[in-house]
Amino acid sequence: MSFEQLGLSPALLQAVQEKGYSKPSPIQAQAIPAVLSGRDVMAAAQTGTGKTAGFTLPLLHRLHDTAPVHPHRLRALVLTPTRELAAQVGDSVETYGAHLPLKSAVVFGGVKINPQIAKLRRGIDILVATPGRLLDLHGQGEVDFSELEILVLDEADRMLDMGFIHDIRRILKLLPAKRQNLLFSATFAPEIRELTGSILSNPVEVEV
Ligand code: AMP
Repeated sequence: MSFEQLGLSPALLQAVQEKGYSKPSPIQAQAIPAVLSGRDVMAAAQTGTGKTAGFTLPLLHRLHDTAPVHPHRLRALVLTPTRELAAQVGDSVETYGAHLPLKSAVVFGGVKINPQIAKLRRGIDILVATPGRLLDLHGQGEVDFSELEILVLDEADRMLDMGFIHDIRRILKLLPAKRQNLLFSATFAPEIRELTGSILSNPVEVEV
């Protein structure tokens, strides 16, 4: 199995090559085609398996594949439990999207909100966020979800452990009903199954 066989666009294959990856990891080999198909995806994968590229590459592909209604309007949201993970995912989005005309931002709490607002106002396609700061920004009228197409919950099990369930439910209510949902978690514990049951519709399940 090669990245070429997965159907990713040349701009993404180039970025993958520049990163020095020779072949997709098992989670990538399963998750990338599933995400590209447009279906909801529920993936059990630990950190270190290459899960970030597993959702970032096909997410970028899908955004690039269809023209937006308006340029640089928020179309994909990645929620993470911690600022460290948000920063890491944001770096991956930048790296893998280096040859695509898509813009991204990372927002998390504990730092000044104004620079984040300034970045959002310049227009972005992809936002990586922790739940609390995202709700703050939305409350201040700085985030518009009306054209959102893809939602990713990364490390969903940690988000539940850290008590983010209410924030997540509040965010879900703000999003367009018609969207693609991707949920990544270290395990498919019963609490995760319950969450996925209410968020994902007929998901492809990927486990490595
Ligand atoms: P993650 O599980 O997403 O945190 O990724 C773990 C590490 O694996 C990161 O340092 C990635 O750069 C690296 N990585 C991701 N995909 C591949 C791949 N296909 N081949 C080699 N390394 C990879």
